[in-house]
Amino acid sequence: MTVTAPVPRLVDQFERGLDAPICLTWELTYACNLSCVHCLSSSGKRDPRELTTRQCMDIIDELERMQVFYVNIGGGEPTVRSDFWELVDYATAHHVGVKFSTNGVRITEEVAAKLAASDYVDVQISLDGATAEVNDAVRGPGSFAMATRALENLRAAGFTDAKISVVVTRHNVDQLNDFKALADAYGATLRITRLRPSGRGADVWDELHPTPAQQVQLYDWLVAHGERVLTGDSFFHLSGLGEPGALAGLNLCGAGRVVCLIDPVGDVYACPFAIHDTFLAGNILTDNGFQSVWQNSELFRELREPQSAGACGSCGHYDACRGGCMAAKFFTGLPLDGPDPECVQGYGEPALALDRDKPKPSVDHSRSGGRTPKGPIPLTLLSAPPKKFCNESPV
Ligand code: SF4
Ligand code: SF4
Repeated sequence: MTVTAPVPRLVDQFERGLDAPICLTWELTYACNLSCVHCLSSSGKRDPRELTTRQCMDIIDELERMQVFYVNIGGGEPTVRSDFWELVDYATAHHVGVKFSTNGVRITEEVAAKLAASDYVDVQISLDGATAEVNDAVRGPGSFAMATRALENLRAAGFTDAKISVVVTRHNVDQLNDFKALADAYGATLRITRLRPSGRGADVWDELHPTPAQQVQLYDWLVAHGERVLTGDSFFHLSGLGEPGALAGLNLCGAGRVVCLIDPVGDVYACPFAIHDTFLAGNILTDNGFQSVWQNSELFRELREPQSAGACGSCGHYDACRGGCMAAKFFTGLPLDGPDPECVQGYGEPALALDRDKPKPSVDHSRSGGRTPKGPIPLTLLSAPPKKFCNESPV
């Protein structure tokens, strides 16, 4: 009789890290035509050190060699790069599929027709309210109309299965059914994600993140509708609210294991929500390319070691929740080996009520010239004319 070695569980393989990331996000630019109050990458102005077209193509060549099958392209608003479509074409011609996130600004009828003709490009339109009133309070005046026009153009061109990507907040959690109806109307799939306190999101997280009662409401909605809604690894911190496995998706922080971010200057971070020097693994230009950073960085090696359960060790939900999201803890100033700030056992709230040292951002590309360090942030956006147009509008 032949005895075969047991195949390791997928989650154990993920925990130790893979040869190439499953979920690679590449922010092509920090330039953006909008100034969303919760932007995770504090985008606005282009970084003058942004990678050139040739450097981006070299990275795509490397991803092809590593057999990275697709990349999530974001920003900033990636389509404002003048070489954006050239890079998308280059990636798909080199067997790297593209899913890109956009506010819709450049999804004209003509572009929608081109996208509809490709099998290897997926489009994700960001929308944070099912009505203009709720959406535009966060994403800026006119942004709802811009996003829905893009969805309309995609539908009219015959593009199938666009994604509508929603960050769940205190103000839109009651609109989940409306978002689903909107997605159905456009022949799109709804994707909902967690509001993380990263980038400018750190300034508004206290006021915008769902209340504990809303988190239960969100969990119940996901259990009822989750099969037809994408969530990625967003909500595993809520797993303790019900039966193990009731929520689909990876219940493990994938940072540096299966997830990472390439930023517009070639810096590689452990996760798109962890843009901070603490989670900087290396730079593609100065550290011998992406593969070398992914496979050899000291930070990624550490993240792939078994992590201490710390204060969560005695919690009965630990297997499901694993202490929650590293980035959410870090940017709210909570210990990385303690409970998530939205811990369903209620340990987050008292921890947040204590004096905390919230880390200062390492990078900020906001056009307003930096963020307000104290006090609540009004949920309105700059509407005054820019002092210098070239500084204010990258479009
Ligand atoms: S830090 Fe948070 S968002 Fe990033 S991979 Fe880990 S759990 Fe996901
Ligand atoms: S105590 Fe830790 S493991 Fe338990 S639910 Fe809260 S964050 Fe998750």
